[in-house]
Amino acid sequence: MSSSTQESMSFREGVDRMVDRATLAIGLSPDTAKVIQACNAVIQLKFPVKVRGKVEVFTGWWAVHSAHRLPSKGGLRFAPTVNQDEIEGLAALMSYKCAIADIPFGGAKGGLLINPSAYAEDELREITRRYTLELARKGFLNPATNVPAPDLGTSSREMVWIADTYKTLFPEDVNQDACVTGKPINRGGVPGRMEATGKGVQYALQEFFRHPDEVEKAGLTDGLSKQRVVIQGLGKVGYHTAKFLCEEDNVQVIAIIEHDGVVVNEDGLSVHDLRQYLAETGGIKGFPGGSYSENGEEALEMECDILIPAALESQIHAGNAMRIQAKLILEAANGPVTYPADEILRHRGIIILPDIYVNAGGVTVSYFEWTRNLSHMRFGRLQRGYDELRGKNYLVALEQLTGQQVSDRQRKGIVRGASELDLIRSGLDDTMRMAFQDIREVMKNNPKINDYRTAAFAIGIAKIAQSYYDLGLAEAPDQEGR
Ligand code: NAD
Repeated sequence: MSSSTQESMSFREGVDRMVDRATLAIGLSPDTAKVIQACNAVIQLKFPVKVRGKVEVFTGWWAVHSAHRLPSKGGLRFAPTVNQDEIEGLAALMSYKCAIADIPFGGAKGGLLINPSAYAEDELREITRRYTLELARKGFLNPATNVPAPDLGTSSREMVWIADTYKTLFPEDVNQDACVTGKPINRGGVPGRMEATGKGVQYALQEFFRHPDEVEKAGLTDGLSKQRVVIQGLGKVGYHTAKFLCEEDNVQVIAIIEHDGVVVNEDGLSVHDLRQYLAETGGIKGFPGGSYSENGEEALEMECDILIPAALESQIHAGNAMRIQAKLILEAANGPVTYPADEILRHRGIIILPDIYVNAGGVTVSYFEWTRNLSHMRFGRLQRGYDELRGKNYLVALEQLTGQQVSDRQRKGIVRGASELDLIRSGLDDTMRMAFQDIREVMKNNPKINDYRTAAFAIGIAKIAQSYYDLGLAEAPDQEGR
């Protein structure tokens, strides 16, 4: 039973309650709030696939929460627990996330009820192709309207299968590559997409630590490099978050929780070795670089500075929120903290950087990939050579004017034009910084808002409301007499 069920509130209801808190704080009219909260469309698919000589009927969904901007964008998850309520709730989070990160997309989410580890690769390919066919035929897959990306249980591999199926169906669509993002680089993807969500989590944390007042409020005393971190989930998001934080910020990852337990090492775990061990053995039990316990859930309550849930939703709930010891929670996963737990943690003064901001790096770089696919040209192709020439001319002038030679390192720095990865990282960093600063502004200016989640929702809701006002789909505040 999921924790949210124990709390007699479904995942989507929990998201709605969080949204209610923000709409109240910004004084949005109940009618406009209703328009924004409604899930615009949801399709359920049931389709047969012959697996190992037997016909199996699979169930999948695609939910479009908002289409005020197109395409609607969302991750596609393959998991044995997927259900329509969850997909609708996750689609809603995508709408607010895109608005907060200033990405001109609506919010969507896809799901397939399946345990991917129970199927061989060619079986999964067949099932994914069939799911794609169903979506596309019903008009829920198209570069202009609905564009999936990797999520829990899917990766660039599934995205290639989706793109290829779409291409077979619509060979005349010149923008066919843009029907899905998170593709490998040689199939229309962009460098840095695979690690984008984890990189974005790192940028979010770096930005948080650039504001000493925020750090102090969280009760954290030292800089980022002194922080002791616990991470739940060593998949695409958790692994890259852990890797970047260890390699570039020198944080100590003291515990990693996976599906089969937790590994702890107070001196810091080798994230790379553990990931390799997980890939080879299918679990973390027996990993020689730390002490193992099968009680992963309890490890969420470990004493640490920062807790980063990066696996599933509803992991921190009313049942364990009182025992969480972390000072700062970074929601790398979608919805890891339930609404009742959020209330408890807020009252306990534990700071939460919410999912709709923290994990926006994935959709941000997906946006870059989508625009690159539409332009049919890699980023920087037109100006890289020109920038290098300017750099060389600048260098010659500098050396002539000063009569001094710059070092080889400085020379390289001045002359080198930006690579595609440089540009993507720069755009991602900028997006995460700007969004954080916007959230902080709301917290400063609205006395009714004193937590990051409500502030982030307030931004997302206000932006979506504005586009509904523009379209005449909701009454603008001045017309409502406020
Ligand atoms: P993933 O499938 O790559 O990894 C999930 C990991 O969690 C796996 O290693 C799995 O073994 C582990 N796990 C499963 N059950 C667990 C449990 N009970 N305790 C601890 N670990 C468990 O998925 P992902 O893409 O890394 O997504 C993780 C979360 O991040 C999801 O909530 C997803 O919606 C969210 N997210 C992902 C992206 C993205 O770009 N992939 C973007 C935004 C948000």
